[in-house]
Amino acid sequence: MTKALPAELHEPEHEKIWAHSGDSHLMEPEDLWTSRLPKRLADRAPRSERGEKYEIVYIDDKQIDRQLNDFMDAMRPPGFKDLTIRLQDLDQEGVRSQLAFPSMGFWVCTIRDPELENAVAKAWNDWAMEEVMSVQDRIFAPAIIPLMDVDNAVAEAERAAEMGFKALYFPCGIDDDRAWGLDIWEPLWTKAEELDLPLTFHIGTGSENVVYRGPGGAVVNYMETTYPGMRVVTHLVAGGALDRHPDLKVLVAEGGAGWVPAIGDRMDEAYRQHGMFVRPRLSRLPSEIVRQQVFASFQHDISAVQVIKDTDYYNVLWGDDYPHLEGTYGHTQETLHTVFDGVEPEIRDRVLRGSFEELFPTAVS
Ligand code: MN
Repeated sequence: MTKALPAELHEPEHEKIWAHSGDSHLMEPEDLWTSRLPKRLADRAPRSERGEKYEIVYIDDKQIDRQLNDFMDAMRPPGFKDLTIRLQDLDQEGVRSQLAFPSMGFWVCTIRDPELENAVAKAWNDWAMEEVMSVQDRIFAPAIIPLMDVDNAVAEAERAAEMGFKALYFPCGIDDDRAWGLDIWEPLWTKAEELDLPLTFHIGTGSENVVYRGPGGAVVNYMETTYPGMRVVTHLVAGGALDRHPDLKVLVAEGGAGWVPAIGDRMDEAYRQHGMFVRPRLSRLPSEIVRQQVFASFQHDISAVQVIKDTDYYNVLWGDDYPHLEGTYGHTQETLHTVFDGVEPEIRDRVLRGSFEELFPTAVS
């Protein structure tokens, strides 16, 4: 006879909640580019020098100074640089699969030399496939797509699909003359749709994040990382890219999700009220395109879960942001119970599993 579990373990608040994470990160080894690129390119690839309080990131001809938090390293999860330990962290936290974005790889989009950018992106993708994705099946990365030359972008998307990547990565911030709604990207969207690879954008990338030092600066700047994600969706919808490619799906990671149906309504208003100025015309209302093709992930966005049913917006994913400071490591179960206890099973299952498995159907074994 099986021994009965203590009564409290049958109560839902004690159950372990298992989730997929649509927003995690890889931590690259320091020699990723120096070990894979010829010296003349490796010397100009992203490189970080860390002091007590500051980190200096060198990329090509640029130097970026970043302030470090004293507690940053102390709070790293045990497995942040070791895959075997990382998988144990995932088991402990209740995370089944992770879409793992770059960390140092985020700097690739600041490179303006197409040859260097292309080589640096390809080396990152080779590393992610060989050292991460080929050795386990729970953590997978999107391929970094070089953006200075659209032919390079299309070629790398094709190579990524052949290698077995399940998503493509893009920064939210982009120069005005290369905005995401422009027709220059049409060959890339055509290729991504044909390859069935979702476009994944991570907030806080491609533009300056510390923009304000006045009252409330920390909160203001956190918000400033969010707006570019909204701009990505706005350009891809209003510019017609998603309408022309109805099978193309977009994920905006880490920026919350409650705003997505709201900007769908806002775009509908513009589309109707300013109809005489609207170019291109779309075959569907912006809000319909958003509901069908735009996905968003959050860590703590309680309102995102609350609005799903009322706004008929179901493309919501949860994310642990592992191993970042803003992430849920160490309190994932507490976070999941806070957000999902009492939420009806259909919604909970959609956010914790269903949206992720719809976006990356071959990633979950
Ligand atoms: Mn993240």
